[in-house]
Amino acid sequence: MKEQNIYSGFKVERIETVQEISGTAYLLRHEKSGARLLYIDADDTNKVFSISFRTPPKDSTGVAHIMEHSVLCGSRKFPLKEPFVELVKGSLNTFLNAMTYPDKTMYPVASKNDKDFHNLMDVYLDAVFYPRVATDKEIVMQEGWHYELDNADDELTYKGVVYNEMKGVYSSPDSILETHMMADLFPDTTYGVDSGGNPDNIPDLTYEDFQGFYKKNYHPSNSYIFLYGKMDIEAQLKFINDEYLQNFDAITVDSEITLQKPFAEGKVTAYPYSIGTEESESGKTMHALTYVMPEMSVVDSLGLDILTHALLTSPAAPLKEKLVKAGVGSDISGYFLDSVRQPIWNVTVSGSEMKEQARVQELVESELARLVKEGLDKSLLEASLNITEFALREADFGGRPIGLAYGIRVMDQWNYDKDPIQALRYEEALTQLREGLTNGYFEELIERGLLKNQHKALVSIYPEKGLQEKKEEAERAQLKEIKANMTEAEIEAIVAQTKA
Ligand SMILES: [Zn+2]
Repeated sequence: MKEQNIYSGFKVERIETVQEISGTAYLLRHEKSGARLLYIDADDTNKVFSISFRTPPKDSTGVAHIMEHSVLCGSRKFPLKEPFVELVKGSLNTFLNAMTYPDKTMYPVASKNDKDFHNLMDVYLDAVFYPRVATDKEIVMQEGWHYELDNADDELTYKGVVYNEMKGVYSSPDSILETHMMADLFPDTTYGVDSGGNPDNIPDLTYEDFQGFYKKNYHPSNSYIFLYGKMDIEAQLKFINDEYLQNFDAITVDSEITLQKPFAEGKVTAYPYSIGTEESESGKTMHALTYVMPEMSVVDSLGLDILTHALLTSPAAPLKEKLVKAGVGSDISGYFLDSVRQPIWNVTVSGSEMKEQARVQELVESELARLVKEGLDKSLLEASLNITEFALREADFGGRPIGLAYGIRVMDQWNYDKDPIQALRYEEALTQLREGLTNGYFEELIERGLLKNQHKALVSIYPEKGLQEKKEEAERAQLKEIKANMTEAEIEAIVAQTKA
């Protein structure tokens, strides 16, 4: 393919060799539908296809997550109840799943077999563009939430695949801490809500809202198609155009992810979470100190990966050691997350007490200030840099296809209208970071990103006995009232719906 030429409706915008992945990247745009497509031509038979949509939710009803489940419940060409389950059983795939992120939803498949790869691609494209759920409310009731009533005299309850899944998620203190942390750090943007769905909010989702979210976001103009591996690319483009994209006209989709305005001053908050009435409260408090970065360069992003490893993960990690020695908690961990528009850097202390809250921040910031002043241990940094470099070169993704790791990595840039090809390059950044070992770059990064950064929150959760029981009681009372206000015919309809 040549630049500026058109192949089955796709215009080739750019072609670049990418040394880091031993391949050539072709960036295309489908002119009629507005769909973006990135093809990586590499000598790999483990082919990957993925279609992603930018799906930032405005609330915690779990609409993006319920959508991900629901579109895989049958479509125009594949009107089965669960084509996804059939595929898992019957295909030669090397990867098959779908993932809801805070601001996007990905549908990737991989296979080494040409025919199988083609079928998987067909099933996924048909699922996202022609799902049965667009007109079948019962699928959302099954996958999202519904009133459950086997007999007219029974107690009314909430049920649903995602509802039940998220009830499980929300019973873990780590998830509760993360939910509060994100809400405190991003009060005005999509990252402050839970795209997975908070069980308290899931029953607020209506079918009309669901359909609105589908119509707005699941359009080719809001999609990012990724192809990787040895294949007849022109045949694939023809298929995608003829069967799918040519049926759509480009529209403007307002799905941009807005930026949270930085804080003038860091926040400090605390929230209760439930433990059993028999359990002891001792050692069950958790603290998370988290910093929100401004939009970052590839160098800074990798730099923070390296710092996180050096300070918190490596055997001699000084920040971890400082917190352990001070006895603020039994477990210290942390991470740097940059698959969001505004990356976050976090230190989490678990097995702690509420009285330690202020000390966590004092200890972290005084240790960071000391490291900046005295200079970081070069051999420690170098070891972490080598580990990061090795991980990049291996593109090891827990045994999953390498092309999938690339497909996920490009979305870190592409989803925010930045250059997806640039996301695959790292040699130049590594050279700069190696120079950074001796020119004060890492110390400057700590100062700029953490010590002088006021967009931060210290969020704690502490145990409270019997909270869950109280909550369940309130929910039961609410459902009882809902049922009391229903007519006999409405109750009968719910019994019938439950059976259906
Ligand atoms: Zn799920």
